[in-house]
Amino acid sequence: MTPKYKRIVLKLSGEALAGEKGFGIDQEVIETIARQTKEVNELGVQVAVVVGGGNFWRGAVGSHAGIDRSTADYMGMLATVINSLALQDGFERLGIATRVQTAIEMRQIAEPYIRRRAIRHLEKGRVVIFAAGTGNPYFSTDTAAALRAAEIEAEIILMAKKVDGVYSADPKIDPMAVRFEDLKFMEVLQQRLRVMDSTATSLCMDNQIPIVVFNLNEVGNIRRIVMGEKIGTFVRG
Ligand code: UDP
Repeated sequence: MTPKYKRIVLKLSGEALAGEKGFGIDQEVIETIARQTKEVNELGVQVAVVVGGGNFWRGAVGSHAGIDRSTADYMGMLATVINSLALQDGFERLGIATRVQTAIEMRQIAEPYIRRRAIRHLEKGRVVIFAAGTGNPYFSTDTAAALRAAEIEAEIILMAKKVDGVYSADPKIDPMAVRFEDLKFMEVLQQRLRVMDSTATSLCMDNQIPIVVFNLNEVGNIRRIVMGEKIGTFVRG
């Protein structure tokens, strides 16, 4: 069986890296992600990763506490670099060739983001981790995932969550909540479903990049998706 997708973007929230601790980086989570990434990398799937920073810092929270919004956002972008380096370390421990490219230059620790070079790495089978989001305040790493996916012509964005898809309401609070199997981007926007922020959703919609929301904690899910199994919630259209 050949994989359904040749090039994917995996979006990991900072929160996901924190695991049960809720803050910082859980090495066990890093290892699970690395194993699952290795599995699909070995199938010949080109994997780019965009990682968030919410396990350390969120710009909006800092700005509510009185920090200038742009400064707070830059701090958030730096948090994504910390996570990217932790991921690279975890990937390389499993023998996956990995490059980090940052949207904000810091040449001593990572390559600057250069689209053509990123594509070249992917073609050579290296995993590319995109750090520092879009490089601009007022954006999110979800938007960075949508932007990078469009730029590198990825076929799909895999949005890793702690739940197995998008629900009509919070399943922890509302027992009547149902999981959607398929959604249209317009429905996500109109119903304000919590998939990704509206900027990221619009970017995916306008550029026809489908996304799948899935549970990262179920080992093997990344492989299932790339092999074409229908799990989680698909958003397209
Ligand atoms: N951020 C930003 N521009 C970007 C991406 C991220 O300003 O293009 C900042 C923003 O402050 C955000 C923080 O970095 O709160 C962490 O990113 P995000 O909230 O997307 O992380 P996640 O929720 O995925 O952990």
